[in-house]
Amino acid sequence: MYKKTILIKTNKKKQVIDITQKILEVVWKSKIREGIVVVFAKHTTCALFINEKADEGLKDDIIKTADKIVLEKDNYKHDRVDNNTQSHILSSFIGTSIAIPVFDGKLDLGTWQGIMLFELDGPREREVVVSVF
Ligand code: ZN
Repeated sequence: MYKKTILIKTNKKKQVIDITQKILEVVWKSKIREGIVVVFAKHTTCALFINEKADEGLKDDIIKTADKIVLEKDNYKHDRVDNNTQSHILSSFIGTSIAIPVFDGKLDLGTWQGIMLFELDGPREREVVVSVF
């Protein structure tokens, strides 16, 4: 098993960042050529998902749609505490961990798939734990 924590700096309130290359570098460094990589964000107001990496416009569409699915303001109780309930809810719904098969030292992703960090309450520095088994 090999584990490395990577830091991702975000610079907007909401942002989708392609972290595929960073994960691939950790997998390569692990020297594990066949197995599974688990990517885990140690936060409650960001998320991880896999989707198309080629079109920048899709990132904007995902952000726009997230705002429609979970309203930014809805008289949330937690907003009285620290005013970021929408980001907690979206993080809960989308999830903070993903697992990807590793073959031949590479991520066995589809052609168009990329690993995305979804910043929901930035800008912040995010810790992402990459574990290769
Ligand atoms: Zn909060």
